[in-house]
Amino acid sequence: MSEILVLVEHVDGEVKKVTLELLTLARSLGAPAAVWAGPGITDAAKARLAEYGAEKIYVAGADEIVDYVVAPKAELLAQLVADKSPAAVLVAATTEGKEVAGRLAVKTDSGVITDAVGLGEGFVADQSIFGGGVNVRSKVRKGTPIVAVRPNSTAPEAAAGAGTEEQVSVTLTESARAARVLERVKQEKGARPELTEAAIVVSGGRGVGSAENFSVIEGLADALGAAVGASRAATDAGWYPHQFQVGQTGKTVSPQLYIAAGISGAIQHRAGMQTAKTIVAINKDPEAPIFELADYGVVGDLHQVVPQLTEEVTKRK
Ligand SMILES: Cc1cc2nc3c(=O)[nH]c(=O)nc-3n(C[C@H](O)[C@H](O)[C@H](O)COP(=O)(O)OP(=O)(O)OC[C@H]3O[C@@H](n4cnc5c(N)ncnc54)[C@H](O)[C@@H]3O)c2cc1C
Repeated sequence: MSEILVLVEHVDGEVKKVTLELLTLARSLGAPAAVWAGPGITDAAKARLAEYGAEKIYVAGADEIVDYVVAPKAELLAQLVADKSPAAVLVAATTEGKEVAGRLAVKTDSGVITDAVGLGEGFVADQSIFGGGVNVRSKVRKGTPIVAVRPNSTAPEAAAGAGTEEQVSVTLTESARAARVLERVKQEKGARPELTEAAIVVSGGRGVGSAENFSVIEGLADALGAAVGASRAATDAGWYPHQFQVGQTGKTVSPQLYIAAGISGAIQHRAGMQTAKTIVAINKDPEAPIFELADYGVVGDLHQVVPQLTEEVTKRK
C-alpha cells in the first residue's frame, strides 16, 4: 500500500489530537507514515503514533528544524516526497500547517488543497471555501496531493500500526534559514481544550453584555468540557481576549458541537464556524440570521437559558 505522509503536530513531546485524526484518515487511503519534525520525540509519543496506525515514523530530530520559522518543515517534507514517493501528504489546516502545505506545493511542483473537511477515495477532498460560504469537492491533478485538513474533520480511532522508526537528516538551504526564532514564550495553558481542536465550542457575542457575564459562557463550557469562543463584537469590546475570536479574522473551528449564545450570525462570524457538525443558537431575537444556520435554536435570553443548560448538563454527569 502506498505511503501517506502525515506531519505530526506536537507540543512538549505530546502528539496533538489533530495528528491522530490525520492518521485515522490516512489509514483509510493507504499506509500512514508519521513525520516528526524537531527534537523531543518520546517513547510515549512513538507509541501514540503507532497506536493510531503509523506504520512508519520518520524522525528528523535536529534542533535546526525548529530554530527557523516554518520553512525547514517544508524542506523536510519535500525531501521525503522525493525519497519515498508517497501517495499524498496530509498536514493539519492550522496557520502553520497551511503555510507548510503551500511551501511544500511550490517545492514539489504539486497541487495543494487547504481547509479540507473530508478526504475520500482518490484523494478527493471536501473543501469549505469563500469564507465557508461554498462547499466543493476538489482533487489535486499535478504532482503529489498535499492536503491540509481541518481539526475535527474525522473522529480519531485507534488501530495499531507497526510504528517502525527511521531517522531522517535534512540539509537545510540558506533560504530556509532566513527567519530565525529568537525566543519562545510559553502561553499559560488553561484547563480548557484548545479552541481550534476542541470537539465542543461555546461562544458568546454582544448579547453576553459584559466581560463579567462571560462567566456564564465559561460555566457551560466547563460543564461540557468545551473551549470558549467569542464573536468579534465581544473581543473588540474587551470582554474576552482576541485569541478566542471565531470568524473570518479570528480562528476557524470545526467542532462536533458549536453553541452560539448572543451572536447574530454575521457572515464574518459564520466563516469561522459553519463547518461545525451541529450548531445550536441561543438568541432572544427569533429573526437573528444565526437561526438560518442552526440545527437547533432556542429563542430566549441567554442569561436565563445558558445557566439552566449548565445545570442540566451538570446534573447528568
Ligand atoms: C472585515 C471584517 C472582518 C470581521 N471578522 C469577524 C470575525 O472574525 N468574527 C466575528 O465574529 N465577527 C467579525 N466581523 C464582525 C461581524 O460583521 C459582526 O459585526 C460581529 O460578528 C457581530 O458580533 P455579534 O453577533 O456578537 O454581535 P451582534 O451582531 O450585535 O449580535 C448580538 C446578538 O445577540 C442577541 N442578544 C442580545 N442580547 C441577548 C440576550 N440577552 N440573550 C440572547 N441573545 C441576545 C441579539 O439579538 C443579536 O442577535 C468582521 C467584520 C468585518 C467588516
